[in-house]
Amino acid sequence: LNSMLSGLPTTIFTVMSALAARHDAINLGQGFPDTEGPADLIEAAAAALRDGRNQYPPLTGVPELREAVARSNARFYDLAIDPASEVIVTSGATEALASSLMALLDPGDEIVVLEPLYDTYVPMIRALGAIPRPVRLTPPDWSLPRAELEAAFGPRTKAILLNSPMNPTGKVFTPDELAIIAELVARHDVYAICDEVYEHLTFGARHVPLMTLPDMRPRCVRIGSAGKSFSLTGWKVGYITAPAAIAGCIAKAHQLLTFTTPPNLQRAVAMGLDKDTAYFATLASDMRAKRDLLSNGLRGVGFDVLPCDGSYFVVADIRPTGFAGDDVAFCRAMTEHCRVTAIPVSAFYSTENAPNHLVRFAFCKREEVLTEAVSRLRAGL
Ligand code: PMP
Ligand code: GLN
Repeated sequence: LNSMLSGLPTTIFTVMSALAARHDAINLGQGFPDTEGPADLIEAAAAALRDGRNQYPPLTGVPELREAVARSNARFYDLAIDPASEVIVTSGATEALASSLMALLDPGDEIVVLEPLYDTYVPMIRALGAIPRPVRLTPPDWSLPRAELEAAFGPRTKAILLNSPMNPTGKVFTPDELAIIAELVARHDVYAICDEVYEHLTFGARHVPLMTLPDMRPRCVRIGSAGKSFSLTGWKVGYITAPAAIAGCIAKAHQLLTFTTPPNLQRAVAMGLDKDTAYFATLASDMRAKRDLLSNGLRGVGFDVLPCDGSYFVVADIRPTGFAGDDVAFCRAMTEHCRVTAIPVSAFYSTENAPNHLVRFAFCKREEVLTEAVSRLRAGL
């Protein structure tokens, strides 16, 4: 057996979802919406199946979707993208990340990552024989430690992996922070893999792709997910925007990993990306109302709630509740006694001595579910 994989624990999302099911708890752990995505997209996906979209589509994605990704880059970020050579459709952002890392890293290469981080990053980097160089953002403000970031770059650095809006922190990187990252990327002549799956889920702060900064266009791989932009997380349709020279190599990785992504879903997602700007504004404003509802509720029952400018997630400090134990024990106890589940933030660290007083709540749920969760916490904490 592969030594890295055989030692890898089951993902925290699966572990906590199973625990939630066992205790009939409200699952504010794993981040998935509890309402269906747009009915017209679901209908388009079903119609495409009946319409004969059932065989292997082109390797880099169906033309309709690649063109829609290019149009979306132009509409939201003023990026001019060639759909034929600069877009690749993948089976979710997860595969997009794996393909991008495979394409950019050789064994022994270093890649800078920012902690806390999404749980697939570090094992995937290690599986490729590459070396993660974590830089920690410190709660509660999660600001970028400039000197430490600078020190993480060296002669073996090949890339940085940046997630903004960020899971689990809800942080949206500021233009100043992005400028610091861009300067280091250019100075060290490296790549940036930008996980932007929550690009349309920001609450006031503006999402700026690193790719739009000066000199960044040839170095950046930008990753989006239909799961997040259309509340269809089970569809697993991702899309990569990258300069042709990099995209060609990512396509080779994609060819090895999945080769293609279901054509009916691609066709429906193309329709989604062409939705009017009001759709995307409403997606964000609805989610913002959910963030406010849950954040206020959590504050009301005794948590300190950290700021959140984007994503599906808000982080809460458990210390004011007086709980005697760490975040892992807290999440277990809260599931058992309050029947509400969250994710311990220590699970998002790859290094020792992670903060153990923070938990992540997903607020991408119906209002009545969030309200019920808060009332269970009020009764049970
Ligand atoms: N990156 C981040 C930051 C995520 O939170 C997720 C999970 N939602 C993914 C990537 C994976 O996205 P997908 O479901 O499209 O594979
Ligand atoms: N991205 C989702 C989260 O952070 C879960 C994805 C998964 O279950 N792997 O909750």
